[in-house]
Amino acid sequence: MNTAATRELMDYDEVVERFDPVLGLEVHVELNTRTKMFCGCSTKFGAEPNTQVCPTCLGLPGSLPVVNRMAVESVIRIGLALSCSIAPWCRFARKNYFYPDMPKNFQISQYDEPIAVHGWLDVTLDDGSTVRIEIERAHMEEDTGKSLHVGGTTGRIHGADYSLLDYNRAGVPLIEIVTKPIVGTGARAPIVARAYVTALRDLLRALGVSDVRMDQGSLRCDTNVSLMPRGVVTFGTRTETKNVNSLRSVERAVRFEMTRQAGVLAAGEKVIQETRHFDESSGSTSPGRRKETAEDYRYFPEPDLPPIAPSPEWVEQLRATLPELPWQRRQRIQREWSLSGEELRDLVNAGALDLVAATVEAGAPSGEARSWWVSYLAQQANARGVPLDELPITPAQLARVIELVASGELSNTLARQVVDGVLAGEGSPDDVVAARGLAVVSDDSALIAAVDSALAAQPDVAEKIRGGKIAAAGAIVGAVMKATRGQADAKRVRELVLERCTS
Ligand code: ADP
Ligand code: MG
Ligand code: ZN
Repeated sequence: MNTAATRELMDYDEVVERFDPVLGLEVHVELNTRTKMFCGCSTKFGAEPNTQVCPTCLGLPGSLPVVNRMAVESVIRIGLALSCSIAPWCRFARKNYFYPDMPKNFQISQYDEPIAVHGWLDVTLDDGSTVRIEIERAHMEEDTGKSLHVGGTTGRIHGADYSLLDYNRAGVPLIEIVTKPIVGTGARAPIVARAYVTALRDLLRALGVSDVRMDQGSLRCDTNVSLMPRGVVTFGTRTETKNVNSLRSVERAVRFEMTRQAGVLAAGEKVIQETRHFDESSGSTSPGRRKETAEDYRYFPEPDLPPIAPSPEWVEQLRATLPELPWQRRQRIQREWSLSGEELRDLVNAGALDLVAATVEAGAPSGEARSWWVSYLAQQANARGVPLDELPITPAQLARVIELVASGELSNTLARQVVDGVLAGEGSPDDVVAARGLAVVSDDSALIAAVDSALAAQPDVAEKIRGGKIAAAGAIVGAVMKATRGQADAKRVRELVLERCTS
């Protein structure tokens, strides 16, 4: 039993007063290539176990790997988007270890010759500040199979009756992106970790190289954390929390490890270099295996694969295929919509940027689109406790509502009722207008009748208007709007009131 695991956690405020955290983030991303890294088997997620396998990905004797060109293109594009240098020549390496989900007993990976090195990713935090995260390397490897431990309560191997193995995932192309040690983030370390993984996910999504589904394991993060007592500059011993599988968990895992390690150090004990598991329900980490060193893996260059030597021309061709990257897109949007930095940040923080952009694409002016999403719809999402993009209204539907307001067919009040109808599942905006009878009344005969009855109901006000007190018309307009449940065209009502009182 690891005694350090039972030490008391230190209060977070005290942790950051007494220690400086150092972070290291390793992100594994499964590429969305149609076939595996070294064979032609399908990579499709969710198939019947062991239906997408062949001698190569099962590691049967005599089979030979062939590199997937698409995967190499993807990692080069990832490297370029992260401002990395692309190695003019590099090799694969065998990482030797036994694990049941790895049928060859070695993983083909890259070791001291990764394909992309020394880049960076600028990460913007909620408060608008930017932190540059230095990238150590991005390299290619193959995913392992999946074990399912049956019986037992935790789903872990301990306490299980038996284990099942599914090799469909074995050999799926995997890119590992590793940061340099991240120092100087202090109390913000957990949110920096989360913001980095978020920014990396958005980048990979924009590149179109992966599904980046943390919930399906196509994006997985290992969080390395260590602490240095304030004033000390040599790094402390790190732990590596494996396969943290949501953005929120990345933040929680880092925070938990900081409070745990601080407790261990404050008790005069040493942090043990080990891998740890994050438990979603308790928000805590527990010890995994003692950390192997590189020597344990007996790395050597993979003899069955030729080196990869991307020509400068090929690299430039791939650079030309990079799409608009997330930060470039944000800059363009800020310019095109004339937003202040703060307005842009509010949009991003509200999770509304893509929704507003889609609404604008569907034909709405950006100002209106923005104001709907960040105010009325944000309130509705809040009230329902769902994220904005899960509200049951599409950007195209909202654009239609905005169009109806612009053409005078709906007032702002009516527009909200239409949106409420759409949210309540009553159909498209036009369906709701028809079913609820919500169109603005601008038909003069109906309006004149309403104006006349309002004037008759308030003869003293009518008298004032007739006497030239035009300001008094507001009271009559208000009464007509009320009588028509907001459906009258207010401008036209006002004209009619003045007409009726001067003729
Ligand atoms: P491993 O093979 O052990 O996973 P890697 O080099 O792949 O090692 O990843 C280690 C990660 O931890 C990197 O992001 C690295 O920058 C970071 N790191 C290294 N030393 C420390 C430390 N003392 N504290 C926190 N992070 C560290
Ligand atoms: Mg690693
Ligand atoms: Zn195969």
